[in-house]
Amino acid sequence: MDMREWHTKATQITPDIYCLEIPTPFNVGAVNVYLIKGEKLTLIDVGPKTDEAWQALTEGLQAAGVSVEEIEQIVLTHHHVDHCGQLEKVRKKSGALTLAHPQAAPYVELDAEFMDFHDQFFLQLYKKSGVPSDKLIIIEKFHKLMTTFSEPSQIDLKLKHEQQVPHLPEWQVLYTPGHSQSHLSLYRERDRTMIGGDHIIGHISSNAFIEPPRDRSGARPLTLVQYRTALQMCADMEIEQVLAGHGEIVRNHRELISSRLQKNWSRTDTLRSLLADKELTAYELTTLLFPAIYEKELPLTLSETLGHIDLLMILHQIEVREQDGVLYYHL
Ligand SMILES: [Zn+2]
Ligand SMILES: [Zn+2]
Repeated sequence: MDMREWHTKATQITPDIYCLEIPTPFNVGAVNVYLIKGEKLTLIDVGPKTDEAWQALTEGLQAAGVSVEEIEQIVLTHHHVDHCGQLEKVRKKSGALTLAHPQAAPYVELDAEFMDFHDQFFLQLYKKSGVPSDKLIIIEKFHKLMTTFSEPSQIDLKLKHEQQVPHLPEWQVLYTPGHSQSHLSLYRERDRTMIGGDHIIGHISSNAFIEPPRDRSGARPLTLVQYRTALQMCADMEIEQVLAGHGEIVRNHRELISSRLQKNWSRTDTLRSLLADKELTAYELTTLLFPAIYEKELPLTLSETLGHIDLLMILHQIEVREQDGVLYYHL
């Protein structure tokens, strides 16, 4: 964990929106939590469950002239622990209601049965992807991350695409899946402001994390395909500023989106050249695509590889063969 001294900030972005930078113990660095002083005092995300994050949140709110106890509702952009880990703590202090996409529910509740299903899904996926058995321990570690940096909580109101945010009548909900199946962005037409969560981030490209199928049977969602579609939807919108979940405000969303979409194609080109004269598993491709970081960041890098394999598969540019439960890709 990064133990450097944390200077709490509450930056006023518009007369009614404040950005609080909350430290996280993850590589991504600080997460941005937004306070909207609307009909109801609303927090967008809350940060992970750590003492440092709690201190930053309470001090940040103070700097913005309010207290945690006064928060009336919390909107979650998505279910990742850097964004929603200390949800229960905020709810207990304030009595605030939680608003989120229905897909966030099992993660936010840390539903035991769902978590078993979740781990089983990844175990099967990793085996099929050719991940060596000594590396499967990562699934447990991944699970432990969730229980360490969040605690069981709940969602009171489920939000849908294009609905108004309750008690924030200017704000519209946009379903923007891909980075996460529960991902929502919020949009206010009056000043063309979007709260983008991890859907649009300026300094890093968002990972289209592989997730289990919603109905618990059937095929997993093609997350990179979803992500690209949701990015395209935003590229078609008039947006002045994207208030991102990490890093600086994005003011050139079209340029950024077009470079992200382009990067996908250069990565599929790399994949095709790696498959030019041999058959490889998704794991082998991951080690070749991300030699420096795949060991440390296996879930992230394998997701990235599988997403690009999905793109090539739907375009019929590569084929797959199964042998002893492992998938081998070739041109
Ligand atoms: Zn995220
Ligand atoms: Zn994040």
